Amino acid sequence: MSACGIPEEVLRDEDLIKRLEEVAKDAALMRGVLMRTKDRPNSPEVVSYAPFSLFPSPVPRTLFHQALEVQTHFNRLVDRISQNPVFLEEALASTIKVDDFTAKLFEVYRAVRQEPQTLPVVLGLNRSDYMLDQSAGGKASLKQIEINTIAASFGGLSSRTPDVHRHVLRVANRVKESQQILDNNPAAGLARGLAKAWELYGSERAVVMFLVEDVQRNIYDQRYVENELWVRDIPVIRRQFEDVWRGGSLDHDKRLFVDGQEVAIVYFRNGYMPQNYKSEKSWEARLMIERSRAVKCPDISTHLAGTKKVQQELARPGVLERFFPDEPETVAQIRATFAGLYTLDMGEDGDRTVAMALSNPDQYVLKPQREGGGNNIYGEEICRVLESMKNSTERTAYILMDKVQPRPGHNYLLRPDAPLRLCTCLSELGVFGAYVRKGAEMVMNECVGHLLRTKSSEHADGGVAAGVAVLDNPLLV
Ligand code: ADP
Ligand code: MG
Ligand code: MG
Repeated sequence: MSACGIPEEVLRDEDLIKRLEEVAKDAALMRGVLMRTKDRPNSPEVVSYAPFSLFPSPVPRTLFHQALEVQTHFNRLVDRISQNPVFLEEALASTIKVDDFTAKLFEVYRAVRQEPQTLPVVLGLNRSDYMLDQSAGGKASLKQIEINTIAASFGGLSSRTPDVHRHVLRVANRVKESQQILDNNPAAGLARGLAKAWELYGSERAVVMFLVEDVQRNIYDQRYVENELWVRDIPVIRRQFEDVWRGGSLDHDKRLFVDGQEVAIVYFRNGYMPQNYKSEKSWEARLMIERSRAVKCPDISTHLAGTKKVQQELARPGVLERFFPDEPETVAQIRATFAGLYTLDMGEDGDRTVAMALSNPDQYVLKPQREGGGNNIYGEEICRVLESMKNSTERTAYILMDKVQPRPGHNYLLRPDAPLRLCTCLSELGVFGAYVRKGAEMVMNECVGHLLRTKSSEHADGGVAAGVAVLDNPLLV
């Protein structure tokens, strides 16, 4: 870190750090980098700061810009995948035979496809995540970890963290670095996408419905997006699957009504993992939403386009070309961000993947079709899991990926109820994309901001919501 970020002598100055810790926490509270508490996740009476790093972390400028520049291509890629049933059927065929959750989603997808299309408006809000690989030595390279096409979070809170780091750095007498912290406002861009889609839906009374979890610790992150809509006089309601099941219906034009209000957009901040569907009622509600005329963010096909299995299929030779037949530059730009991804389908290719993983487990990550952090398998555990299923179709629920190996840095992670200590850290850069398509025409396609998350290198996996990573800001070097 010392060569290109906050100097090591600052990090080791105990008195300063103690002072900055208090300054930083107060700044986070005052700037609205907030989360509800673990003990009272639904109470607005007790709040705390969302976990964040004391200092920004260095990110090479060229790689940062590379990530921003490829984002509109990823937007178009996801959108094109979502419109390609032949590809989705092929790509997910083996997965849905063994993975119940993906199979359930696919059932919804097939059911909706049998019905006539309702409204040709598509809204995509996604976040493509990267780590900067240093495994080859020399220069780092940008490698995509995954793309989140449903419920991608922290666009709200990351709009507020730049001011916190600016303040901390000023107090630390690091004025130059303070001036280098980038502005960032994904919440505004995400809201612009929602507003555009709402306009195209074309009914002033219709609401935007945030589909939310029952535990709402991260509500403030969502409120930043929500409030941008209220400012535009676009009404927002918040509902859970159960509420939609109970109070939702479709009229003869398949307009979605929930508790008497017409819904223009369903913005999913829930529904990305099996536990989110507490009973069949949740699945029935999801199906009702998907069948409706409301704009779905994402619709079921875009949700499926974000699965890890699709990510692995895209890395096969020739597949990106299918989506961009006349754009070799686009293909090259996207492909440059791919780490090695390997199929575990039954057959020779899959067998080769198993052998490769078993002989060198520390080089890989074994990934199931899950979201939300904490699901991946690393190191010796890969051998144990693969040994137990290597000759069974069970293995096709997973993909194998090269382990991206970023250069660690040093930072302090601030987290309520955890003592402060200097950590060896790894960072993950996320880039937010927003697009709106009406029929064949893209009416919006933008990169709307970024997110840097940093975690202690002793954790292999897990995001901010999972309690492992913290919010951070890039310091371009
Ligand atoms: P999720 O959808 O659960 O967030 P991810 O693919 O993002 O799944 O994996 C979760 C975390 O695991 C990431 O945030 C990252 O820290 C780590 N991880 C995932 N893939 C890799 C990889 N190929 N190399 C190194 N770390 C990885
Ligand atoms: Mg994910
Ligand atoms: Mg992730």
